[in-house]
Amino acid sequence: MPTGTVRSEERFEELVARLKDGGYRLTPQRVALLRILATEDGHPSASQLYDQLKVLFPTTSPATVYKTLNLLKDVDEVLELGFSDDDNRYDGTKPYPHPHLVCIRCRKIVDPDVDMADTLVRQVAEQSGYDIVSHRLDFFGLCPECRNRA
Ligand SMILES: [Zn+2]
Ligand SMILES: [Zn+2]
Repeated sequence: MPTGTVRSEERFEELVARLKDGGYRLTPQRVALLRILATEDGHPSASQLYDQLKVLFPTTSPATVYKTLNLLKDVDEVLELGFSDDDNRYDGTKPYPHPHLVCIRCRKIVDPDVDMADTLVRQVAEQSGYDIVSHRLDFFGLCPECRNRA
């Protein structure tokens, strides 16, 4: 889809600029990983990112992926989703808190197309007096594909 392509191209350039401004080295492997992160909206784990990167750079080590993810976390350019029973997953397309839909069978994670998180955060802040700095909102269920297979 053209709009999606434009958005991921812009996001890729944003990520490159962010690391460049921070004075970080942009190796070809790192640039390729940024492109995967800017394009991939399926919330991959570090090992899934490594598998994708290995296709392009067979000699890449998992450390390249972990180091780059840590850099991006430091500059708030990737959202890390931790799970107690599964690998951490990463969203490089939207690095800010937003709701997620998690399939309990195939572990697919998508961003639901709803616009309620901001309202919810505002309400919680008003009612509690807290200065909200972050939030985590996950919905668990069976994705349409898994439902059809049930
Ligand atoms: Zn599923
Ligand atoms: Zn997401």
